[in-house]
Amino acid sequence: MEILEKAPAKLNLSLDTPFVHQDGEPEWNMVMTAIDLSDHVYIKTIPNSSTITVKTDSGFLPCDERNLAYQAAKLMQSFITPKQGVEIEILKKIPVSAGMGGGSADAAAVLRGLNKLWKLKFSNNHLAKLALQIDSDVPFCVYNKPSLVTGRGEIIQPIGTLPQMWIIVAKPSASVSTPSVLKQIREQKIEHQNVDKVVLAIKNNDYDTLSQNIGNALEPITQKRLHEIHRIKEKMIHFGADAASMSGSGPTVFGITQKYSRALHIYNSLRGFCKEVYLVRALS
Ligand code: ATP
Repeated sequence: MEILEKAPAKLNLSLDTPFVHQDGEPEWNMVMTAIDLSDHVYIKTIPNSSTITVKTDSGFLPCDERNLAYQAAKLMQSFITPKQGVEIEILKKIPVSAGMGGGSADAAAVLRGLNKLWKLKFSNNHLAKLALQIDSDVPFCVYNKPSLVTGRGEIIQPIGTLPQMWIIVAKPSASVSTPSVLKQIREQKIEHQNVDKVVLAIKNNDYDTLSQNIGNALEPITQKRLHEIHRIKEKMIHFGADAASMSGSGPTVFGITQKYSRALHIYNSLRGFCKEVYLVRALS
């Protein structure tokens, strides 16, 4: 049996880390949304086998147990008898190591897909708990709805629909290793964010308050290593975005506007400076 699951990228409209747990993992307080830029994940189950294979069209990705989609298949395999094998093929559209949760999105797609193919009937809530064993962004990617995400990434509270807006996403040429940024949280001063205001703005469908409060506590850490982030943000604002911020641990930067003509202008202008630019909408 075979299924195609779309795996949408995520952006952090607001990201804060109130403290770091004793084991070194950050506590998160963030508002996340999925966007209409997706990997395509083909999942095929193979009877009388226990082998998991992963193929991708990206030269940069590991296809063994280091691939998060592989780890998701392995986890789901432990719930069925007799064992079945899984073939996964990933067509990558989401930039890798960009702060857009590409690996997490693929893993969540495999969890959802195998839940259907093997008729396991796990609720999204249950899948999200399993998802945390893979990575902190995978629980959100099970739902893909605008949400307040807290704990270590496992507490997902959907917030409703975002105000109507266009999102311009620009990925600088350099990539950033998430663990190396997270290691710096204890050592560097964090610019704490008003996440509650962003949540309230979304609940009130208040675009102005939302645009005034988007932000990312990790941005100063990544920005120190990659000055391009600041430059792209400045250009986004210069070309007409109402606000711009980094997503996740970076280096991807996104800007927002409510007007399509302005979004198109920002998109076209940025393509002169940045190779990877996307014009997208949030998924609700
Ligand atoms: P994070 O969720 O850690 O912030 P990110 O969004 O910045 O990640 P990803 O594209 O998920 O970036 O890649 C992070 C790491 O995960 C890379 O080292 C990559 O090799 C690894 N990885 C494992 N599986 C995948 C996958 N299916 N797609 C993308 N990256 C993957």
